[in-house]
Amino acid sequence: MYPQIRISHTIRELLRCPICHAKLKYMGINLECKNSECATHFPIEDGIPVLINEQSSVFSIEDFISHRKTFFANINENKLKKYVRYLIPKISNNIQRLPVRSLHGSLRM
Ligand SMILES: [Zn+2]
Repeated sequence: MYPQIRISHTIRELLRCPICHAKLKYMGINLECKNSECATHFPIEDGIPVLINEQSSVFSIEDFISHRKTFFANINENKLKKYVRYLIPKISNNIQRLPVRSLHGSLRM
């Protein structure tokens, strides 16, 4: 039995080969690139085409077929939190430092 593709015909018509950007042909069990020089086959997993260019992706088609974790699977949560904190600027960076008038009337920065 062929897997059912769970995307509309309209969307299916818009799908392109991730390698050469040619149109794809629905072959029942997979999608095939219509470019004869490429002719790559892409599986349909759980009704969703797995359109990955394995040469430019950190994921492989096998990752999705085997239902492996593909989102930060190998990153320790503490390392992830530290990295996110590193990327986000401190809120104090948005506060402009204003001169403060002392009790004696002089300005200091
Ligand atoms: Zn192609």
